[in-house]
Amino acid sequence: LTLIGLESSCDDTAAAVVRHASGARPEILSSVVAGQTDLHAPFGGVVPEIAARAHAEKVDICVEAALAEAGVGLAALDAIAVTAGPGLIGGVLSGVMCAKGLAAASGLPLVGINHLAGHALTPRLTDGLAFPYLILLVSGGHCQFLMVRGAEDFTRLGGTIDDAPGEAFDKTARLLALPQPGGPAVEAEAAAGDPARFTFPRPLLDRPGCDLSFSGLKTALLRARDALIAEKGGLTRADRADLCAGFQAAVRDVLVEKSRRAITLYLQEGPDSPAIAVAGGVAANASLRAALRVLAEEAGLRFVAPPLRLCTDNAAMIAWAGIERFRAGHCDDMTLAARPRWPLDTVSPAMLGTGK
Ligand code: ATP
Ligand code: FE
Repeated sequence: LTLIGLESSCDDTAAAVVRHASGARPEILSSVVAGQTDLHAPFGGVVPEIAARAHAEKVDICVEAALAEAGVGLAALDAIAVTAGPGLIGGVLSGVMCAKGLAAASGLPLVGINHLAGHALTPRLTDGLAFPYLILLVSGGHCQFLMVRGAEDFTRLGGTIDDAPGEAFDKTARLLALPQPGGPAVEAEAAAGDPARFTFPRPLLDRPGCDLSFSGLKTALLRARDALIAEKGGLTRADRADLCAGFQAAVRDVLVEKSRRAITLYLQEGPDSPAIAVAGGVAANASLRAALRVLAEEAGLRFVAPPLRLCTDNAAMIAWAGIERFRAGHCDDMTLAARPRWPLDTVSPAMLGTGK
């Protein structure tokens, strides 16, 4: 099977062609991503109207580039996969309209994909993981534990009740006058810092379950920063490094402890080849990755961290999820709707409205 995938749910416009012959390893023939970071930078966050306009302008160009780079025409494709939600509705609509146009022009089937399912199925594209596996999605917009039982079968074990960790890293960077995106900047500072000088809270560890919280951490950091400023009029290089190290350690500890609990729940399923994957921009954090690897190995699980370009928003994951859905016999038609909200537990558009 060869599918093109389209992605436009947040601030990246992307198109990719993926091919998979059963029994062989899937091949990413092309993966084009046009980011919008520069467009949104002056506003300090993604502006939905600007994002929608940029997607509408770029989606056709990305499709052409992905087909050209893959060296295939529409005639060589088996279907068209597109992110149908969740996300900023203007962006999702741009992708869905473009995909419908391509489907109408070519007569190819249309496969609507849940963006989160795209992230969650990526470890099968990159490492061929067998169902069921556990995945921790940690990005600027998401933080959740999912048990992936099948291409259409996801169980959410828990997630953040407020901020996503990437958002917390970004806010921390802002509070300490470090550049954006905050994650890499905070990680670099933390390398020279003492994580024990400031002890930040480990929210929700006193409560059972896999839910997480990060907003209290940000408040604690703000207080520690202001106390230092009040005391000596400003922050030294060492203060900043120690604050970053303390913050990063707190985020890591919370994610690792909740992962331990998610693993316990997952192992009750009795998986044949137990595995845990981590995806999302925050998975780039070396300290988090190392701690999760140790945890997984201790629990007898394989640890998988796909390459970062496939962990952050991209269209190869959408084309791949399309291959999985299409192979399972699921397809959509011209009534495919763009959805701003779309919980992963109801991943098949066909299942929406059935109360599942
Ligand atoms: P999504 O819609 O998938 O949530 P997003 O654009 O918000 O998309 P990603 O692109 O997956 O998220 O990840 C970006 C986030 O990852 C940013 O918040 C960034 O600060 C964070 N991040 C990147 N590198 C690191 C790192 N080394 N340590 C911690 N956080 C990081
Ligand atoms: Fe995403």
